[in-house]
Amino acid sequence: MRDMIEDTRLRQVAEKVEAGVPVSTDDALYMLETGSIVDLGTIANYMREKLHGSRVFYGVNMNLNYTNVCELRCPLCAFSCDAGAQNAYVMRIDQVSEKVAAAVAMGIDEVHIVGGLNPELKIDYFEEMLRAIKKADPNLHIVAFTAVEYDYFARLNNIPIEEVFTRLIDAGLGALPGGGAEIFEPTVRSKIAPKKIPGSRWLEVMEIAHSLGLKTNATMLFNHLETSHHIVDHLSQVRNTQDKTGGFKTFVPLPFHEENTEIHAKNRSLTGYDIIRIYSTSRIFLHNVPHLKALWMYLGEKMAQVLLNFGVDDIGATYHYEKVVHAAGARTADYGSEDHLVRLIKNAGMTPVRTTAAYTPIRREES
Ligand code: SF4
Repeated sequence: MRDMIEDTRLRQVAEKVEAGVPVSTDDALYMLETGSIVDLGTIANYMREKLHGSRVFYGVNMNLNYTNVCELRCPLCAFSCDAGAQNAYVMRIDQVSEKVAAAVAMGIDEVHIVGGLNPELKIDYFEEMLRAIKKADPNLHIVAFTAVEYDYFARLNNIPIEEVFTRLIDAGLGALPGGGAEIFEPTVRSKIAPKKIPGSRWLEVMEIAHSLGLKTNATMLFNHLETSHHIVDHLSQVRNTQDKTGGFKTFVPLPFHEENTEIHAKNRSLTGYDIIRIYSTSRIFLHNVPHLKALWMYLGEKMAQVLLNFGVDDIGATYHYEKVVHAAGARTADYGSEDHLVRLIKNAGMTPVRTTAAYTPIRREES
């Protein structure tokens, strides 16, 4: 592969990748600024193929955003509101059951749950919620609550976070999404999400989850106030934690959508090359995290498809009922059909594999 690389600096990166040597933070900084996009893609794709061959993963799932009431009201958030606001809502358990039953009838495999930090909702609400979902279909895989929510549940209920995890595992929890990581660097974090737990606590909560056998994702929000140095710092902290625990299944970079938020930072819009550089660099730098996900809903399905040639092996899922990113102005449909995701993957010359966050292949009903 290295012989195909024209850029001298990237050829050094390629040599490390072929030898299985982790690339350095300086390498990552170079990759985030390079104009040699084809070379970068060659290296990222080499890693993707080594890990997954031609397989590209996708899911058939629903989103459950159980409340939009949140104590933190982060400036980056277009979804949350104060208790008592006209658009405030909390889903009752019977409403959860109804929504899940409707999605089960559509053939979902997984339920993805995140919501605001609402002081009215105690731990028994979440136990009941997960049990109601399993009652609708015991085979459903439940990916629920960010590290920010777990930390809040522990404090609100005055119980150790380990107990929060064990009680929710007992109720049906399968894995954790990777939200709330944003950007770990404290100066930027204090501007985009000043009341959110610090990056160090986010990583600590994930380490506890990993120690209890839960697999998780890790996200990174970009295209707001961050610099390339902050991105590299974020990637490094994920890589270091992964060296300790091995519990991150997937890394998920998320482009920030600013509509209806209080952050209006970039005076130019993100280009396709910017996006390619961030995903490819993530794939190459995070040699120890098996999957790289490009959420079509955040990126648009065409950009997500292009990224399959830049290190990405997971295109996301159908996301029936998604609310959070659409509150911030995402222009994509609020769910993609399975047929459409399969077509995107096949059309890129790859093999679609239907799965959940556990990455166990699920047989697809041919239509
Ligand atoms: S980003 Fe999360 S924690 Fe922050 S206000 Fe929105 S829902 Fe609340």
